[in-house]
Amino acid sequence: MPTCQNCGYIWRWKEAMRLIYRSKATCPNCNTKQFLSAKSRKRSSYTSILVVIPLGITTIYNLSLWVYLGFSFGILVLILLLSPFYYTLSHEEEPLW
Ligand SMILES: [Zn+2]
Repeated sequence: MPTCQNCGYIWRWKEAMRLIYRSKATCPNCNTKQFLSAKSRKRSSYTSILVVIPLGITTIYNLSLWVYLGFSFGILVLILLLSPFYYTLSHEEEPLW
């Protein structure tokens, strides 16, 4: 779980979920602006590659497009729900590369 770099407060899952749609949020404990670290942002872009796995499965077993869409949607939701667990925070906005 993400830990505040200013006060050491460990964010709750619900608080960390805010980081999914924007890369910065204020700490609920000390109100300091915290940014999602470049490492976490890179990791979340890698995990989106996982959507390719159902595409491979549906092609191999000759399944319909709907199976693929259902599969990808399931994986996407799973990634979103689990992503707060591997998020780390940073004091400032880090360049991605
Ligand atoms: Zn804090």
